Amino acid sequence: MSAESDDDADSSIYANDSSSNLRITQLLKTKPLIDLLKEDKENCKQKDSEKLWYHGRITRDVAEDVLKRGLVRQNSIDGLFLVRESSFSSSSFVLSLCCKGNIYHFQINEVKTSHFSIDAGPTVQGLDRLIQNYQKLAQGLPTILTQFCKCKPPPDEQRYAGVTNILHKAVLEDKAELIQEILKSKYCPSINAKSEWGTTALHEACTYGFENVADLLIRHGANVNSLDRDGQTPLHRCCTANNAGIISILIQGGNANVNARNPKSGWIPIHQAAYQGHLKCLKILLDFHSPYLPRADDDDDTTPLDLAENYEHKDCFKEIDNFECQKVVTHKYDWFHPELDRHSAQKLLEFKGLSEGLFLVRNSKKNPDWHVLTLCHDEKVFNYEIKTKNYRDRHMYYIDDGPFYKSLEHLIQYYSYHNNGLPCALSMSVNTTKELIQISSDEDYSNLIETQRKPDKISPALPPRPDILEAPVTDTTKKHIGSHLTPPPSPTAPSMSPPPPPNHPPPFRQQSVSKAEAAPIELRRIDRKLLKLGREIGQGEFGQVVKGEYKKKTAGKTTEKINVAIKLFHRTAIDNTEDFLKEARTMQQLDHSCIVNFIGIAENDNHELMLVEEYIAMGSMLDYLLDYPSHVKKDDLYLWASQIALGMKYLEEKKMVHRDLAARNILLQDKKMAKISDFGLSRAVGSNSDYYKATTGGRWPIKWYAPECVNYGHFSHASDVWSFGITLWEMFSYGEQPYENMKGIEVIKFIEEEKRLSQPKECPDVAYKQMLKCWNKEPKQRPKFFELNQHFHQEDIYNTVVCREVMNKLRK
Ligand code: AMP
Repeated sequence: MSAESDDDADSSIYANDSSSNLRITQLLKTKPLIDLLKEDKENCKQKDSEKLWYHGRITRDVAEDVLKRGLVRQNSIDGLFLVRESSFSSSSFVLSLCCKGNIYHFQINEVKTSHFSIDAGPTVQGLDRLIQNYQKLAQGLPTILTQFCKCKPPPDEQRYAGVTNILHKAVLEDKAELIQEILKSKYCPSINAKSEWGTTALHEACTYGFENVADLLIRHGANVNSLDRDGQTPLHRCCTANNAGIISILIQGGNANVNARNPKSGWIPIHQAAYQGHLKCLKILLDFHSPYLPRADDDDDTTPLDLAENYEHKDCFKEIDNFECQKVVTHKYDWFHPELDRHSAQKLLEFKGLSEGLFLVRNSKKNPDWHVLTLCHDEKVFNYEIKTKNYRDRHMYYIDDGPFYKSLEHLIQYYSYHNNGLPCALSMSVNTTKELIQISSDEDYSNLIETQRKPDKISPALPPRPDILEAPVTDTTKKHIGSHLTPPPSPTAPSMSPPPPPNHPPPFRQQSVSKAEAAPIELRRIDRKLLKLGREIGQGEFGQVVKGEYKKKTAGKTTEKINVAIKLFHRTAIDNTEDFLKEARTMQQLDHSCIVNFIGIAENDNHELMLVEEYIAMGSMLDYLLDYPSHVKKDDLYLWASQIALGMKYLEEKKMVHRDLAARNILLQDKKMAKISDFGLSRAVGSNSDYYKATTGGRWPIKWYAPECVNYGHFSHASDVWSFGITLWEMFSYGEQPYENMKGIEVIKFIEEEKRLSQPKECPDVAYKQMLKCWNKEPKQRPKFFELNQHFHQEDIYNTVVCREVMNKLRK
């Protein structure tokens, strides 16, 4: 690989300008925010005008057409170019270039995260700097780059630096409320835009310890894994600056990758914490399942333990040295097949159906001390060597550049919750008697998040996000990319670096994306022009929820204005469009008075999606219980409980499991009507079984889940009944947090020890009895929703005629 060029060589082109020194609060005295935002946008556009050579994902043919048209306009100039995304891989790009009447296409390889090269040319951080270098020197190209066909600037993530915008400035001034205003505005700059110093707004919030701001940015979709000019992610920055508080926000709120490697230093965040001697950061990272002995990407395999020792941070050294990595819950007999060779291992996995994440471990023929992990991904089989090494007199196991672990079991457990480096996490194994074994990582629900309690104004509680698999961005792609000098291809030759052959191991740290298991159904669309957006009423998983008005066409030509709730879709670094649409598709199939009614999907001018549903005036039941406990009588609770059970009975009839039944997801239309909402985690149960099997990772509301969900990923109507029991407990305790401050893993242990939540202070015995029934260890012994509906209807002993009427009407 060629040496990296000097990073500071051309930083002068990003020189500061005087306006960026002005405080935004001062500027606000001179004009309204909207004007500042418009000016800022214009200013950024102008400063980027020399970088509008990026054309996104267009094909080779289209690129040639664009260039040919450009040639006509520019009078056949040599060096006319554009950059496009490679159609083989979204992490590589292509430079299409005209010279002497020919068009050449050069593959731009991402050698390591955000570092690019063309053939044997220098490796440079950022597409913008790469192109800039080739605008000065040909370095192996047939010509220097002269002019470009105009389109748009390169993507934020792939840039070395950008233009300092109004959001960066507001963050540096720690103005959370102002930032919220900016983020709401349609003139808001891209949240992941880099400043002239190569940092995103989130990097700055992490450096300066602005917790509220970091939280806000994450909720609005900031990329938690983006790299700054020094190759640091926001997590690295927290560790450098000793801002331990933000680490949990990044991981819990944004699913930040604790394994993200700095491509320059080869360090992951825990290395950084150990180097600086920041014990608190180090401890938090370990709590969030950071590996404790990751190896730097260097010749010495430097670990955080080495760094703590070398830089004499005794407390950090002690913490790592004494760190007993979590107890293992996986056993060799579930996956170890010493007798199998490569061929028979493949055959066995094929026989077992090649499901995603299915694996076994066998002995290596190469070295008696080594093993091989044989793993299914994408219905193909891949083999990874598990090597061993003596480290500080300990026998350590590792895969490729992954962390050291002291036993095979620990290593397997680590890879069952982090796919770090592998194409997917390990989820199921074949044991020696050829049975399939679900890998239960027990202690290691690093992806699970407990939903927080009552939101504050600036930091609303973040609901769990469904099926977001880790999206590591650190790099080892270099392992699969050659850097041979290749002559420029003829205009008709195929691109220079072909995609890997089908059986080549997939690139390390490939991103897994959950598949939509529901057959796509045509979604009901509504015209955006018929919608009027109003104030914010909540923060949902995908972004803001606002109140709105919908001009509904009724019979004839008349229209009727109805109140609606509009869920705005904020695309995140991981493309979550499918999750958003999945929720819409599920809702569209439902029609019941105890379930929030779906109206349609709309799209704005920027092709951003919105989910429109009926407006439920009193909002979240949980908030109501917390805010107005004295307004809620026992008979209200009975009525709501019977309505929730009725809605769930309907869901059961539709063969769907909700998987996120909780007080926060019940909305109140008025005191007499509760409705179930939030179908983001809902799934259809199979036609031949009574449960849905979760195959992808995800962040689950563990405190609401039955043991079989946690242990085997089995979700059924009976597991929804368990969650109903927890919801009842929340209701009768007037919004208390179930299991208080216990962590997910502590709750699992608590339940396994046959312990259950205790009876809330004012909860009648009859209601608590039902809760205990819902929490029966045996799913089959739990009550059914129709029984629960009947029970709470009867328990509604003080109920008024109105309540009876409501329920009787609903039952019909
Ligand atoms: P969700 O994305 O469903 O978790 O919604 C987030 C918040 O937005 C909820 O807690 C409610 O406060 C509010 N909300 C969501 N849907 C509605 C609705 N249909 N009517 C009124 N408020 C809603």
